[in-house]
Amino acid sequence: MFSVLTDFDRARVERFKQATEEKLRDVRCPEHKQPPRVRFQGSTLRDITISLTGCCAKVMELANAKIGSAWPDRAESS
Ligand SMILES: [Zn+2]
Repeated sequence: MFSVLTDFDRARVERFKQATEEKLRDVRCPEHKQPPRVRFQGSTLRDITISLTGCCAKVMELANAKIGSAWPDRAESS
């Protein structure tokens, strides 16, 4: 299996994941006191997607707001 992923790609993805998880670390649902769960799919910043799950719409809203500021400037990779 040939992979076109470079270490540079991997490093950037790892950094992005860590930054995102860090942003979510202090997010808790005000009602249920539950943290959101986040999963990453994709192996490059171009195709990576984040899927969030949470106890209710409120925590999803909070998590989305946090994550919104975590995205790197994707314009440069277009
Ligand atoms: Zn909740």
